[in-house]
Amino acid sequence: MFDTIYPRRRDRLPPEALPFGWHVAEIVAALVVYDMLFFASHVVIHKVPWIYRRVHAKHHRRVIMRARETVALSIADEVLDVSCSIAALNLLKCHPLSRALYNVTIIFLLCDLHSGYDMPWMLQNVVPFGICSGSRRHTDHHKHGRAFYQKFFVYLDNFFGFNKLPEATKIE
Ligand SMILES: [Zn+2]
Ligand SMILES: [Zn+2]
Repeated sequence: MFDTIYPRRRDRLPPEALPFGWHVAEIVAALVVYDMLFFASHVVIHKVPWIYRRVHAKHHRRVIMRARETVALSIADEVLDVSCSIAALNLLKCHPLSRALYNVTIIFLLCDLHSGYDMPWMLQNVVPFGICSGSRRHTDHHKHGRAFYQKFFVYLDNFFGFNKLPEATKIE
């Protein structure tokens, strides 16, 4: 359906891969755009109780995090999540190899985010200046539901004031 709306292969199927660094840049850029789109939809989902109950409550069903919570999604939640990825890749007109590598990368990062671990080698502990969100924040998001809406970065949560845990308890 998306390929019909945004024909990604219309005029181009590059005959060869781009320089490795360019693929890395495309993947990072796609993760940034995905994160922005996801943040916007995630805030709306949490702020409108009717939508939250029907779309997103399943993802918040457990307080104890495990990697399998990555796929604890309603169908609408899955469609929304994947749509953010497809939109990001299409907006940036990513090379097909970058798209393939992006899929592997984001699946790894999502499992990492929901793993419940906080290992020294995880992004939140190795990327400088605290720009990456990571499993600590996402676990707190799952517990409280009213902060830390970004998945991979922190700047939008910081800007909009969603970077502190509220007194309130978890949304039902
Ligand atoms: Zn989650
Ligand atoms: Zn949520």
